[in-house]
Amino acid sequence: MLAKSSCLIPAFMLAGLLMEGNPAHAGAPHDIVAPPTCTNSKGEAVQFVDRENSTDGSGLASGMAIRDSSGIPSVFRSNYRFAPPEFQRFIDRHECAHHQTGDVDLPHPPRNSPEHLMNESISDCIAILRLRDEEGYGKQKVGVITEALGRDMAQIGFPEISISSRVSNIENCFLKSGGPEEYVRDVLEFRGLN
Ligand SMILES: [Zn+2]
Repeated sequence: MLAKSSCLIPAFMLAGLLMEGNPAHAGAPHDIVAPPTCTNSKGEAVQFVDRENSTDGSGLASGMAIRDSSGIPSVFRSNYRFAPPEFQRFIDRHECAHHQTGDVDLPHPPRNSPEHLMNESISDCIAILRLRDEEGYGKQKVGVITEALGRDMAQIGFPEISISSRVSNIENCFLKSGGPEEYVRDVLEFRGLN
């Protein structure tokens, strides 16, 4: 039986949509990046699994944090080749964060509830801190990520306020003085999971 996932399509799908004939997406599909290391809140290793890649240009790059049918903590990656490498890396770390913070093993809050939105903000924050501190990402690459995120959220139909608040959360997290481990530790402590 599949465990609950933290990022079901489409509410908070991180999408990198390749539109046929859209100059913003022109060019060859991207290579799929190597996944990051990821350990969940129980100390289990998280596996990354590449899933379908659509061939008709309708691919939405997205990730899903879940336990697979054998119970192995997993991130399922879909259509990554339609997203720039910076955005692929962001999706990987966002989904990993759902494992790091224990979201995957906790009851899933109602779609778009304050608790759900909080979990998404936390995962975005951990993801951008990891890219900053572990991969050396600066403002330019953060811009690539927020641009891809904003474009794809708009494509899915999110209102502008949802997009701008999510982007500003990411930009604010990028400026935090503490690192990702400290942030994860604080979340686990708050949740009584440490
Ligand atoms: Zn998420």
